[in-house]
Amino acid sequence: MHKIDIELIEMTLDVMKYAIGRISATEHEIGKPKKTEELKALVGETVTEKGVGGEYAFNLWKEHLANANVPVDHPRNLAFVPASPTRAAIMFDLVTSASSIHGAYWMEGAGGIFCENEAMKWIVSLTGLPEGAFGVFTSGGTAANLSAIVTAREYWRRDDSNKREKGLIITSIGAHSSIKAMAKVADVDILLVDSEERLTGEDLQKTIATLTEHQRKCLFAVVATGGTTNAGIIDDLEGIAEICQKEKLWCHVDAAYGGGALAADSVRHLFNGIEQADSITIDPHKWMFSPYDCGAVIYKNPELAKQAHSQQGSYLDIFKDEGAHGFNPTDYQIQLTRRVRGLPLWFSLATHGTDRYKEAVERGLELAQIAGRMIEENPMVELVREPSLSCVLYRRIGWEPSDYTHWTYENHKKGFALVTPTKWKNGDAFETVSRFCFINPDTTENDIQMILDSMA
Ligand SMILES: *Cc1c(COP(=O)(O)O)cnc(C)c1O
Repeated sequence: MHKIDIELIEMTLDVMKYAIGRISATEHEIGKPKKTEELKALVGETVTEKGVGGEYAFNLWKEHLANANVPVDHPRNLAFVPASPTRAAIMFDLVTSASSIHGAYWMEGAGGIFCENEAMKWIVSLTGLPEGAFGVFTSGGTAANLSAIVTAREYWRRDDSNKREKGLIITSIGAHSSIKAMAKVADVDILLVDSEERLTGEDLQKTIATLTEHQRKCLFAVVATGGTTNAGIIDDLEGIAEICQKEKLWCHVDAAYGGGALAADSVRHLFNGIEQADSITIDPHKWMFSPYDCGAVIYKNPELAKQAHSQQGSYLDIFKDEGAHGFNPTDYQIQLTRRVRGLPLWFSLATHGTDRYKEAVERGLELAQIAGRMIEENPMVELVREPSLSCVLYRRIGWEPSDYTHWTYENHKKGFALVTPTKWKNGDAFETVSRFCFINPDTTENDIQMILDSMA
């Protein structure tokens, strides 16, 4: 298994050929999922005592399995938050895999971690956080949010009187589902401000005023969103940071999706106040064109994260030794063994320069504005709200929720587009609407027009 022979060399060439084909392709199909039973019927038993052979297995992948996935980088995939990794980043993902780097400790992964940190410096510079702020790459926004919440909670528990209390955080219903999920993991209570619109400092202050004395004692953090996943809404980060300072609360900004827009001059002002956050989540695998998976958590004071996350064990002592000294990514988030998942981003940034990142993000913003105008000019559809960041919510006049679902499936089945419905809260009612999220700079106006036309 670990020896080289002619078969292995041939397989290496086959795999490289496939990768080159995928990296250089300008078009790929929107694949469709199949049921497990259908896939099983197509490929049969593959994991057996003697194995089926690499060539056979790879052919199964190419013929039956690859196209049961929806490529997130398809220009007419506007569902959820799609992605669009640069070709340079994808190539370096291959290099990252081939290099077998343990990315937890400097002692083992200095070269890779150095590159990650160069990329991280750029991301931190976009936030405007003060000197000393720094971050690490995580598996995604969920892990970043968890790492930040745990850091905040441990900081709060340094006060002995909080040691046995269950903490409480405040966020709004616009926050991403992972905030609620990670609050559960960290066993903290969560209070949701019941509005999907921009959460303001005033809303926050009013909510704090409704707390019981015990709740107020347990409140330790506020999660603001820097670009809601559903609608691209950026909370009043300045106002919220101000209240957090006044009330001595940890201010976390979840900018997993929106963080890429910090690079865009046209909307940077909307994030004012983010420089006062205690921690920030940004997903390079969303709007910084990295391959999956690559999230990031950034701390104003990384030392607090280290106190919460640094793992202790006699087998780990060597890493803390003077001779091994350097930056240890494991100390700042929940994971020990880790891939140097920021390495593809570093290579892409080094290859293209940050200006190209700015331009690519601006294009996503521009596409949302263009789509907004096309919707306004089209009598069949109307905007639910003005496009925000790269999200556009709109309704097809006269449609029931089931029409949206049917339309989504039809377009997907045809291999034409993936655009999924969402819900928007209006007063007390949730309305089913259609949603675009633009990430891929290769999406064209014609793509948008064709998608709108398909609603006729
Ligand atoms: C996508 C997203 C997350 C979750 O990130 P993953 O990388 O999917 O774990 C968290 N918060 C926001 C605002 C998001 O858009």
